[in-house]
Amino acid sequence: MAAETALLTVDLDAIAANWRMLRDRHGADAAGVVKADGYGLGAVPVARRLAREGCGHFFVAQLAEGIAVAAAVPRAMVAVLNGLLPGEERAFAAHGIVPVLNDLGQVDAWAAEASRLGTRLPAILHIDTGMNRLGLPPVAVDALAADPSRLAPLDLRYVMTHLVAAEVPDDPANARQRDAFAASRARLPPARASFANSSGVFLGAGYRTDLARPGAALYGINPTPGLPNPMRPAVRLDGRVLQVRDVPAGETVGYNGTWTAARPSRIATVAVGYADGYLRNLSNRCPARCDGHPVPMAGRVSMDLTTFDVTDFPAIRTGAMLTLIGDGQTPDDLAAAAGTNGYEVLTSIGSRYARRYLGA
Ligand SMILES: *Cc1c(COP(=O)(O)O)cnc(C)c1O
Repeated sequence: MAAETALLTVDLDAIAANWRMLRDRHGADAAGVVKADGYGLGAVPVARRLAREGCGHFFVAQLAEGIAVAAAVPRAMVAVLNGLLPGEERAFAAHGIVPVLNDLGQVDAWAAEASRLGTRLPAILHIDTGMNRLGLPPVAVDALAADPSRLAPLDLRYVMTHLVAAEVPDDPANARQRDAFAASRARLPPARASFANSSGVFLGAGYRTDLARPGAALYGINPTPGLPNPMRPAVRLDGRVLQVRDVPAGETVGYNGTWTAARPSRIATVAVGYADGYLRNLSNRCPARCDGHPVPMAGRVSMDLTTFDVTDFPAIRTGAMLTLIGDGQTPDDLAAAAGTNGYEVLTSIGSRYARRYLGA
């Protein structure tokens, strides 16, 4: 087998420690959100590791993701946030996957499936308290409050809602959503509740419910932007140096010559580019790391390659690995350089990395 040219290392022990910390901080149970293939890191290995840790609830976005995760953690509850699409009822029931019911049509379709099967089917009801994206709007909550028999064929596991601005503790939307959620719950049949995402866990006791739904913080993204990151880093990306070349002063490097050698320079070309989710907006902005030292980028990120100025690192030769994430540089650092968030940095990670799981 050829040597890997790019390596993604996922520290499952760190993810497990982050989950325990979030659960304890929340002071109640916590799920694991593993949508988008576990934020790009691998939903199945993450779910397996968290299940071993005692995590009994998982959320994904889509049914196909749910089927893969449910097969890996057969004793856990696996729920699909995007809801129940027409025609999916039998597959949800056959795989024992819990739909997050986002409108009255989904409530009625799932109740009809339960009646057809002669069983009560598990469900989560999503109340929209201000996101205006998915979930039952107030008028639909009114309809259910007026006719709770529509829910009777269902085993209502949780009623949930989702915060709009949890990472901004003094955003008035937080308290507004908390109060709207409490008002809706009071009008519906009694059920356990699920509210806080990663950042919501840090909003305090007013946001505690039976089940938190952290995703990003599990993977080391800072749930408290502006404050020190309380989470353990869980991701490392390394790229192989394919060539090191001497570039005379005055010459440029890469597409459109956006970097010019100010001195006789050594340039290392690394086998990672924007096709690997190493965002083009990082061009000339984000260093790599070598033994903890920042190694400046030189020129544009291209599809499969990125160039770094290793003039001051004579030990870096062809075949060496440069660290793109890790070694003190976080997904949030890349996000800040690229003008996005850590979520997008992680979910952009492509399929060409060799993957190594620590603590599997
Ligand atoms: C993605 C998502 C979460 C997890 O959010 P994080 O900010 O990653 O913790 C929780 N609930 C819902 C509805 C989501 O879509």
